[in-house]
Amino acid sequence: MDEQTRERQRMVERHLIGRGIRDPAVLEGMRTVPREAFVAAELAEFAYEDAPLPIEAGQTISQPYMVASMAAALELRPSDRVLEVGTGSGYAAAVLSRIAREVYTVERHEELALAASRRLARLGYTNVHVQHGDGTLGWAEHAPYDAIVVAAGGPDVPKALLDQLAPGGRLVIPIGETPREQDLVRVRRHQDGTFDRDDLGAVRFVPLIGAEGWKEAPGTGPVAPRPGASRPEVVAKLIHEAAEPIESIDGANLDALLDRIGNARVVLLGEATHGTSEFYRMRARITQELIRQRGFTVVAVEADWPDAARVDHYVRQLPWERAPGQAFTRFPTWMWRNREVEQFARWLHDYNGAVEAPERRAGFYGLDLYSLYNSIAAVLHYLDGVDPDAARVARARYGCLTPWQGDPAAYGRAVTTGSYRACEEQVVAMLRDMLEKRLEYQLRDGERYLDALQNARVVANAEQYYRAMYYGSRDSWNLRDQHMFETLQVLLAFRGPDTKAVVWEHNSHVGNAAATEMGARGELNVGQLARAAFGDAAYLVGFGTDHGTVAAASDWDGPMEVKRVRPAHPQSYERLCHDSTVPAFQLALRQPRRMEVRDELSAARLERAIGVIYRPETEMASHYFQAVLPVQFDEYVWFDETRAVSPLGESTRSAGIPDTYPFGL
Ligand code: SAH
Repeated sequence: MDEQTRERQRMVERHLIGRGIRDPAVLEGMRTVPREAFVAAELAEFAYEDAPLPIEAGQTISQPYMVASMAAALELRPSDRVLEVGTGSGYAAAVLSRIAREVYTVERHEELALAASRRLARLGYTNVHVQHGDGTLGWAEHAPYDAIVVAAGGPDVPKALLDQLAPGGRLVIPIGETPREQDLVRVRRHQDGTFDRDDLGAVRFVPLIGAEGWKEAPGTGPVAPRPGASRPEVVAKLIHEAAEPIESIDGANLDALLDRIGNARVVLLGEATHGTSEFYRMRARITQELIRQRGFTVVAVEADWPDAARVDHYVRQLPWERAPGQAFTRFPTWMWRNREVEQFARWLHDYNGAVEAPERRAGFYGLDLYSLYNSIAAVLHYLDGVDPDAARVARARYGCLTPWQGDPAAYGRAVTTGSYRACEEQVVAMLRDMLEKRLEYQLRDGERYLDALQNARVVANAEQYYRAMYYGSRDSWNLRDQHMFETLQVLLAFRGPDTKAVVWEHNSHVGNAAATEMGARGELNVGQLARAAFGDAAYLVGFGTDHGTVAAASDWDGPMEVKRVRPAHPQSYERLCHDSTVPAFQLALRQPRRMEVRDELSAARLERAIGVIYRPETEMASHYFQAVLPVQFDEYVWFDETRAVSPLGESTRSAGIPDTYPFGL
């Protein structure tokens, strides 16, 4: 027996039999089909992990357990003829072909249909027939089918599929109110032509897109080159011509940028990673000019309110009682606890020192009251203690909480593992408790800024948020961004009618979500809400890099590592910027120096996002998404080669730092 056959046996024992799959024909099918032959060579080593994996065209090959449970739910007999919608890699079709007589499978992405058809032929699966087309319309020519399985999530059961189901037939399909989460539903057609339905539990699949599925959103479909779109060399050259080079961060002339920002009330400064020194320093530089020259008085950052409040006390030099403890001591500490932020805080402290009127001093605020990171750490810690299996599921899921990730490890994973559900109440109670303690602290906070009304809003949202977060649901993203934006609005109102704010958050919060894959899945963000509320008075700036180093972790709660950033993907915006050969630049997109730049960049391309977790090995699946850059941002700031931020180490403790030190050491 070779190694792969052994691994396959192990997978069947552990993940299928171990989790209740009994149908002998299904188990036999899963034992014989070589899953490694259906994924890219570099992912073959993961072929027998019980996880979905990315394939071409941004799609996934389903998790083995999901393939097996759907096959079992179809109650197949050897004589059955099966229709599959969503061929993908062809893996599930191959498994079905071992159990039933003929398998007809339809795929909407032509490149996938072709690749699967070739692969199946090469591997000798002669009873599988692949067709390129919209599977929500079925495949009438070979109907009726004894069983129909849909491998993508739709809004409802497509009528054509019901029509093509034979009397006595079974249809299994994920159905959900949004394209992101579904319930697995089985429909039976009785001999008398009536149907009934049973629910097989919560699941997560890629969206079913078609006439009787979800509508395709712009910029998210199979990306065909726009007619007339120029070759990459031409676009890179245009960027070269339109870019305003940045010679040095400290010396850069920002006059043109300030003119473009004009009278904007909110300026959102992004970052493509949470650990790149150049991004932090350039954001600080721009912010300094906005404070000095344009009267900005709010710096609002993607951090917890209480943590940022410590820095705020320091920078505004207000005579409040110092809060106990230290700021930014939980994972990911390096995100704010670094030399770059420290330097900015010291500058702001000195700058404010020369401003007489306290109300004119610029403050430093956290938008993210919920503390996503603390909450996740608490959940993992709790689960580690009570249920290590559930903790493993949670770790994998939190690894892909961020919306830019293709979410390969979460799609198609059954969300209703019993033990996981059993922990829900306790976890939510624990998180609420944490939140209440935090609110108590806030009420002692000098400015009492978040008044009773604000607190009530937080508590009201919290329950829903924590449940969504516990299941790694994408709703938690929307609730969080909505909350951050509302906090920003409260801040603007609190500081007075003419207040202007700079926001520092990741590109994925700052760039208009409507211009990205996220928007197509129903995700919103701060940038999009700011655009809707302020129109052109919101100025959105993205930051990007090609290669270098970055501070990030490999896992939740893992230690900070300095990781090498891989040169960007050939089809990405980053590659075009790299090929412009300008080492660092500002590129105006709303009012570009040359209009052609905007037009050329308006064809959707890949963009990279690195969060607190960076996994260069699977970068393509976990850190790239589709976007339309000039709609996402008004301006793009580029540093071709970048370095990791410098975390504040232990040494500062002994360096005789004064009591006013921003991080409360
Ligand atoms: N069964 C596949 C996994 C499929 S993922 C495997 O084992 O690899 C879901 C697939 O459904 C994707 O490839 C997606 O492109 C496809 N899809 C989505 N909507 C579709 C539609 N209307 N018709 C056909 N295929 C569709």
